[in-house]
This record gives sequence, structure tokens and C-alpha cells, in this order.
Amino acid sequence: MGAMWSAIIKGDYRQANLCTHSGGCRDVCPVGIDIPRVLEYIKWRSVSHE
Ligand code: SF4
Repeated sequence: MGAMWSAIIKGDYRQANLCTHSGGCRDVCPVGIDIPRVLEYIKWRSVSHE
């Protein structure tokens, strides 16, 4: 969640860019947020808006 928060709220993409999309956080998220999918979108946006 921290990587999403930093990117969306602070505009800091450093943590999001470290994600390897292993899926570990998605498997354990108690509310079913597909975090790697969100991070994929965040990374795409950070590149496409440079
Ligand atoms: S998918 Fe989740 S657990 Fe895996 S590297 Fe990305 S943020 Fe970390």
C-alpha cells in the first residue's frame, strides 16, 4: 500500500518502480486489492506523462 500511497499522494514513484509484480501483496491483502495491477498502472502513468 505504501508504494501506491507515495505515488498517488506524493508523486514519488520510487517504490512503485521497485515492484517486481510477484503478487505476494495481492495474495495477502485482506480486502482483495490487486496491488500489483495498480502499481502497473501507476508505473505506466509515470512513464507516459514524462
Ligand atoms: S507485487 Fe506486491 S509483494 Fe510483489 S514486489 Fe510488487 S509490491 Fe511487492
